[in-house]
Amino acid sequence: MFSSLFSCYNTTMNTPITIGISACLFGQNTRYDGGHRLEQGLVGLLAEKVVLMPLCPEAECGLGIPREPMRLEGDSENPRLMTIASRCDLTGRMQTWATLRLDALANEAIGGLILKARSPSCGKQVAVHGAGEGETAYSPGLFTRLAMKRFPGLPIADEEELRDPARLADFLKRITEDEQDHQENQR
Ligand code: SF4
Repeated sequence: MFSSLFSCYNTTMNTPITIGISACLFGQNTRYDGGHRLEQGLVGLLAEKVVLMPLCPEAECGLGIPREPMRLEGDSENPRLMTIASRCDLTGRMQTWATLRLDALANEAIGGLILKARSPSCGKQVAVHGAGEGETAYSPGLFTRLAMKRFPGLPIADEEELRDPARLADFLKRITEDEQDHQENQR
């Protein structure tokens, strides 16, 4: 359906646009339990149009595979990344790695990010535990929070949003338009 609508090219370099994607959605066994969450349809469709660059914040910052499950805790405006059983605070480790990785992504001129829903590192809207009584508080996962801050306006979506054809079409349109704006600003 989309192949006739979109061709996501860097118009100056005539090269496909690069999109970062959570490695587990790409089919790599990077999850805490050693598994993946391949989004076969999405990956297959996008691979025809863009270059997909898998990344796994938790594995790449050295937490290992498999690893202990973790979650966001505390203040939803400044959550901590904590292992659930051993109570290890991984916030600083993730922030240090993410800062360097985001610098590298800036150099690679990525056109967007597709990140795993509800992951404490990659999710766009993740429940924060212990944020107080009453309603559940939410925050982006730690890596996604830093990515949003580093690249305001960058198209970022999770796989659940992109299962909706209209939202997928909108995401592809945005990455193409953003690339054209970027090229015009370079002239
Ligand atoms: Fe890695 Fe993010 Fe997937 Fe977790 S959700 S396995 S941190 S890519």
